[in-house]
Amino acid sequence: TISNHKDYLSTLNEPQRAAVLHGEGPLMIIAGAGSGKTRVLTYRIAHLIENGVDPFRILSLTFTNKASGEMRHRIEAAVGTEARNIWMGTFHSVFAKILRIEARYLGYTSDFSIYDTDDSKSLLRSIIKEFNLDDKTYKANVVFNRISGAKNRLISADDYINNPVIQADDDAAKMKEIGRLYKTYATRCFQANAMDFDDLLFNTNILFRDFPDVLYKYQHKFKHVMVDEFQDTNVSQYLITRKLSAVHRNIVVVGDDAQSIYAFRGANIENILNFEKDFPDVKTIKLEQNYRSTSNIVNAANSVIARNKAQLEKTTFTQNEEGALIDVIKAGSDNEEGRLVATAIFEEKMQKALRNENFAILYRTNAQSRSFEEALRKLGIKYRIIGGQSFYQRKEIKDLLAYLRFTVNQRDEEAFKRIINLPKRGIGDTTVAKIAVAASENNLPIWEVVANIGQYASGRTIAPIEQFATLIKSFKIQVEEGKDAYKISAHIAKTSGILRELYEDKTVEGLSRYENVQELLNGIKEFVDSEANEDKTLSAFLQSVSLLTNADEPDDNNDHDRVTMMTIHSAKGLEFRNVFIVGLEEDLFPSQMMLENRQDLEEERRLFYVAITRAEKKLSFSYAESRYQWGRIKMCEPSRFLLEVDNRFLNVSKMVQNALERDTTPPVTSFARNLIQRKPSEPARAVSPQSAHTPSTDFVPSDTFDLAEGDKVEHLKFGFGEVVKMDVNGTDRKATVKFNLVGEKTLLLSFAKLRIL
Ligand code: ATP
Ligand code: MG
Repeated sequence: TISNHKDYLSTLNEPQRAAVLHGEGPLMIIAGAGSGKTRVLTYRIAHLIENGVDPFRILSLTFTNKASGEMRHRIEAAVGTEARNIWMGTFHSVFAKILRIEARYLGYTSDFSIYDTDDSKSLLRSIIKEFNLDDKTYKANVVFNRISGAKNRLISADDYINNPVIQADDDAAKMKEIGRLYKTYATRCFQANAMDFDDLLFNTNILFRDFPDVLYKYQHKFKHVMVDEFQDTNVSQYLITRKLSAVHRNIVVVGDDAQSIYAFRGANIENILNFEKDFPDVKTIKLEQNYRSTSNIVNAANSVIARNKAQLEKTTFTQNEEGALIDVIKAGSDNEEGRLVATAIFEEKMQKALRNENFAILYRTNAQSRSFEEALRKLGIKYRIIGGQSFYQRKEIKDLLAYLRFTVNQRDEEAFKRIINLPKRGIGDTTVAKIAVAASENNLPIWEVVANIGQYASGRTIAPIEQFATLIKSFKIQVEEGKDAYKISAHIAKTSGILRELYEDKTVEGLSRYENVQELLNGIKEFVDSEANEDKTLSAFLQSVSLLTNADEPDDNNDHDRVTMMTIHSAKGLEFRNVFIVGLEEDLFPSQMMLENRQDLEEERRLFYVAITRAEKKLSFSYAESRYQWGRIKMCEPSRFLLEVDNRFLNVSKMVQNALERDTTPPVTSFARNLIQRKPSEPARAVSPQSAHTPSTDFVPSDTFDLAEGDKVEHLKFGFGEVVKMDVNGTDRKATVKFNLVGEKTLLLSFAKLRIL
């Protein structure tokens, strides 16, 4: 942090200082990981403000809200509270803010809802149904991705219909349907006064394209524009930044082509190349010194990325110490991988007196977190998972948020569908469908029908609908009275019946859901109390939460000292003292699903490079030889990426030693399989004493055993137990085993991985 603003310039190297002090005109910094790109942007903004630039006239775009929060915090330390006035945030949050101000130009009101991916897919699912399309051919997910892809390339529904972008795997008829679905989807979002995530960029582009006055206003307003992680901006984002900086031409972009990991979302390295065309007078500065990592880590990362053909030329070196070699941890199973990594964390923490927050476990997909969670929990190590089932994705949170959304925007149909019968008021799906029909027949928003239900329906369903309408009207009045977000939300949580229903559910899950809702209310209180937020209305609060990304999870109880677990994608830009990259197996990483051609492989490799370069002092790799998948054991090969790391930086001596010690095990097939290393202290012992010295290859399919009642066995996933019953009738031999931890399970012996103790 910049503690004393007078000498922050002295904490920069020569090219960094040149970038901070750069005067007018475009500037581009393409440099390797950990070379201080983000630091340069931070100091530059502080420097501009110190030299009299109005913070309201600085626009700074970052990758996560968290990253921009940190940046703002640091700038505030240097220049004081003025820093709060900088226009700083993610593309989505900054442009949502502009769209709210200018909403009327596009036919929206400034209270428009933001549909998250779930809302979008739910809406698409109902449209697919209305169209009587086969939902296997037209999966909401796939259609959503098509629409999203089109929007990111600025292709509107009409453009799509008139001039379809031919996708190799679609036939013409399917393209036509997707065009129709896109059109209806867009219309319905518009009618609901709602935008999805892609619309925030798409509509900003439309706004600036069709309303030159609006563009003019922002072009003149933003004297300085900065973009971090420039390599991951897509066409739509790039066009906006280019337009916004066209007048003052003070644009600074920083990025690293080797860290471009969003090609699948339409981000395009070509932006970097185009930038030089669009701004021919661009000044480029190189940053070559890495300050983050040990030289072993920097060199290992360089050895990996050198294999990519498509890359810009640049060098990265470091003057940091050599540091420890990279440990390679081999585990027999995914559970063992969890145990070995957790134990390694435990030991390193003890030996070096570190804190939990010094550690990160990075994986390719969210689903991998489970075995690490279990193992960390057993060792009493606190952790937090970023992404996955995020706080804001939990049902009870989305329910209350839907109430809040509908209170500010009664055209929000997805919110309406969530809350109309929640808590249960006897309004079934058929009634809701009838309301929808009445609305479309009379060409009215759904709310008009609900609010005047007596005119459109009769019978016993009327009463609960009228009650619902009265409830919403009473909430609206509070908004109109200008009450702050917290007062209204607390009132809604109580009077809607949401809190009561959860309170009455006395199960553990019910209790935790109740606490979650309380936690959300606490968050709203914090939002209202924070000096940084001038606008304390419900709609301002909703705006702030609807754009939270996975990396912006609230920290429970402000307890920061936790091991961080997350996907590599969300780790971008972050750094940790000790990093574990886990699940280094073929098909998992590189991911089989992503791998169609060389470009895909190069993108996966860049992802690996991003992961390696998060580590400051110590890096470890791990992989498992077998893994549960769809309830069965799958044998895994070590990832090719393990072979690609120059083995001078791997923990070779230990590897060789361990490989020799284990020459009784069956011969290994490839070089990577020789990367056998178990930590000398045999950490697995702490959890399962009997298995610590036993190679996991002992877990052979159990129908080769002469298994009998009373036998003590170990199962790869369920642990230790005793056979209580054998069932040998027919071809499928079954054993019922009473496991110490998970109780009785009946196992099909041709699949079960058991060993007799
Ligand atoms: P990434 O590509 O991963 O986003 P980056 O290029 O943005 O990395 P920073 O995060 O800005 O790199 O810097 C990496 C680390 O090095 C940070 O901890 C930062 O404070 C430190 N650092 C950067 N420059 C210097 C310097 N001149 N002296 C000391 N430390 C520095
Ligand atoms: Mg950075």
